[in-house]
Amino acid sequence: MNHCKTLACRNFGLSDKKYYLLQETDPSRPGLVCRECGAFPPLLDNRALLEEVFRTKQQDSANLAACSNHDCSSFGKPVLTHRELYHAFGYSGEKQRYRCKECQSTFVDKWSNANPKLEIQQRLLGLVFTGHAVREICRKLAINPKTFYDHLAQIALRCRNKLAAVDARFVQLCDSTPLAATIAPLQPNSKNGVNWLATGDANFGYVLQQSLNYSADEDKPVTFSATQKHSRLMPDDFVAPSEVPAPTPQVLLDKVNAKYSDVLSRQNVEDPFTKAIDVNYPAVGSLVRPQYTTYAHFMRLVEATAHWETVTLYLPQEPLLRSAVVSVFKDRMLGKSCHPVYVVQNAYWHKPDESAPVDIMLLSWWRDRWAFTKSGEGNKAICHLGRETDNERHWLECASTEQLERYQSRFHQCFKSVIDEPRRRLRPGGLLPLLDIYRAWNNLCHQDSNGITPAQALGLARKPYSLADLLS
Ligand SMILES: [Zn+2]
Ligand SMILES: [Zn+2]
Repeated sequence: MNHCKTLACRNFGLSDKKYYLLQETDPSRPGLVCRECGAFPPLLDNRALLEEVFRTKQQDSANLAACSNHDCSSFGKPVLTHRELYHAFGYSGEKQRYRCKECQSTFVDKWSNANPKLEIQQRLLGLVFTGHAVREICRKLAINPKTFYDHLAQIALRCRNKLAAVDARFVQLCDSTPLAATIAPLQPNSKNGVNWLATGDANFGYVLQQSLNYSADEDKPVTFSATQKHSRLMPDDFVAPSEVPAPTPQVLLDKVNAKYSDVLSRQNVEDPFTKAIDVNYPAVGSLVRPQYTTYAHFMRLVEATAHWETVTLYLPQEPLLRSAVVSVFKDRMLGKSCHPVYVVQNAYWHKPDESAPVDIMLLSWWRDRWAFTKSGEGNKAICHLGRETDNERHWLECASTEQLERYQSRFHQCFKSVIDEPRRRLRPGGLLPLLDIYRAWNNLCHQDSNGITPAQALGLARKPYSLADLLS
């Protein structure tokens, strides 16, 4: 992943060291300088990146029925998405048993029986979704908080199991769907450094992948040993800001420029935490440097979309996402079959006005090519990161991250009392199951004003799922 990330540069995507100078003036922060364009792509530890890919994959699919023989080529490949690798092999009690065609080992699908706790879990979920605090729910159901979180973890596993099959259909059938990605703090009032990255279909808001730069099972690195070996994990050595941040400008062009200045105030443009920032480090687990989580997130998207003809991805203006996308989709970028597009708009944007002019501007050090337009009080701007020209009106009309933004803000509203629970603020791990449940609910249960769920709109489900359907 260490190469020039300037699309217009001859060295884009080339990793041979002869194209770069190694900057060693500050030994704690070695850096590359591109001999061609002078860009300074931040260094990334490729091995640490693979660890992060492995960690996030484990988190998402470790509990799905799959071959568990480490020496087998089918290891960890879920039955749900790799039917061809397994035979159904009778039952164990009520649960389906499978045999691996490759190594002949057998295993049981834990989630194939009827849910014996359906009734209480349905009531619990109903209370969580209507904004009740954990304490109230425990009182109403006469359970203790530990039991509450145990139920939540089990529900999450069932939801994940339900979704895995629909996700597989999404990847297979929706190969011309534009995607959007957004990033937001998981707990906006906690300032605990955990960011939540979500990617899904841009039109209806079917969410395919989400990642957190937080690992509940690892310990935070001790500051003084934050060397190569620990470079994936973030130590607790943030510098608090000395001045109050300037308010966000109202005019869209000023807003875009302000974002670029903010980005250039980072020591590492791909890491929003390398500037003065307030972070209350989580009490357990470790924060992961966001570039590792982000690159890993999009590497998994590359795998999922390998057979797609083109991949379109709408993004907020954020070099962390841009660098990851152009790096992992390097070949597609060169073949022009990937369209990453920055999109920003004000609150009044509704739809484009065909007669309004489109102003082209080259902005910041990167000379990013932006197109601005307005429609009444509404303002919108896009920037095609592959430097495509002559198609601005199309992107101004279609590009949008609104569905994904709404997905994240709905989570913050809906689960406010759980998210802001004092004990939970520095223990984000407890929210992981909730995120899985929420994604399943969003994709399969949540209906728009016409009574249609994202899965239905994309032809992946015939009707909305009820909470009981999710849990059964
Ligand atoms: Zn270059
Ligand atoms: Zn096997």
